Amino acid sequence: MIKHHIAFNPTVDWHFDLAKAENALLWDTHQKQYIDFSSAWNVTNLGWNNQEIKQAIIEQAQKNVYVPMWAADEIQIRYAQELTNSLPAELDVICRATGGTEANEMAIKIARVVTGKKTILGFSRAYHGQSFATLSLSVLPRYIEKIKPLVPDIIQIEYPDAYRTNLSADIVLDQFLVSFEQQLQTNDVAALFTEPGITTGGGALSMAPEKFLHSVRALTKKYGTLLVIDEVGTGFSRTGKLFGIEHDGIVPDIITLAKGISNGAAAIGATVTKSMLIKEHIGFFKPTSTFGWTSIACAASLKTLEIHQRDTMWEVASQKGAWLLNRLKKELADHPNVAHIRGLGLELGIDIVKNKQTKEIDLDAIPKIQAHAFKQGLHLAPSRNCIQIMPPLTIPNDILQQGADILINTIKNFR
Ligand code: PMP
Repeated sequence: MIKHHIAFNPTVDWHFDLAKAENALLWDTHQKQYIDFSSAWNVTNLGWNNQEIKQAIIEQAQKNVYVPMWAADEIQIRYAQELTNSLPAELDVICRATGGTEANEMAIKIARVVTGKKTILGFSRAYHGQSFATLSLSVLPRYIEKIKPLVPDIIQIEYPDAYRTNLSADIVLDQFLVSFEQQLQTNDVAALFTEPGITTGGGALSMAPEKFLHSVRALTKKYGTLLVIDEVGTGFSRTGKLFGIEHDGIVPDIITLAKGISNGAAAIGATVTKSMLIKEHIGFFKPTSTFGWTSIACAASLKTLEIHQRDTMWEVASQKGAWLLNRLKKELADHPNVAHIRGLGLELGIDIVKNKQTKEIDLDAIPKIQAHAFKQGLHLAPSRNCIQIMPPLTIPNDILQQGADILINTIKNFR
């Protein structure tokens, strides 16, 4: 679709022009109000137009707005310190980026350079970005048909999502680990890319068996393969921890961040890794980015991190997420077209199925529900494979309840 001279990805037919946004509410240019259950897909975790973050930008703009990539200024240095302090001690060095795609591209380069291996593994139906390499990692063939060829030596494997099989989580994990280890034995796998036990990109919201992350950490270590955890969507309290890796206590070799990092106030991403791993190799992957980590973006991100820590936002995500998950299960679990109500923190998903036994997703019903909810004043992300629910973590309880009412009524009555 083209509107206002802008090309929009044709994911929704309920396009709107945004006039105003505040915490968990949006208004269009016809003054219609919407409750937001998307956070712009895990961006505005601390609420739209967060006042403290805006103020931090204003104060920084009076000091300095930009620093060249061969230097650093005070706010960049402070942010690098605080961000690495908030992660496991080994993750002590940052490559600056403008967003998630760029952060993941850098992770691919680092993995190939430091291991001397070529193959990169990713999970199909996940999402890691819009570049050729990140599309190669995860996006289904039908979406990339006309832009092929992509990048060689990047292989998609199946996510161990036990729900999609009729097997137990233990069996699915065991089967996955056997075939994963066979791939690692080729001795050419530079890295495995995954989100921390859940997929938030790509719109499927799959959940891995409990011991997944521990198991892939152990195997990647054994074979000298890097483990890259994409926390672009899960980072910044979304899943009930500041970072998703904290659920399992594992330390990956690289973690990538974007989206919630600045709460939508500036374009910024980060590839965080281990200085021990990269220090001899930096000239070979060249961590440069003209607009990565502008002083303004660092001021917004530093304030964002401070608020998450000061207000223990991961606990808020856990509490609100538990309430909403419970309510959705209570109201919708028996519905003949609803299946697999699941999630972590305030990142929830509901499958809309043709038939509960076959679990076949009703791909036509999902956009209809999103469009109907929108008419009723609830803004959902345009996920294609499930109803994906990601309200700002700062959403007041009464607004959360009103949004839940609209969603439940819409799903109950969509046919
Ligand atoms: N990884 C994940 C998990 C994502 O959800 C996204 C964006 N949807 C990206 C990477 C890419 O980030 P960006 O759009 O900032 O390039």
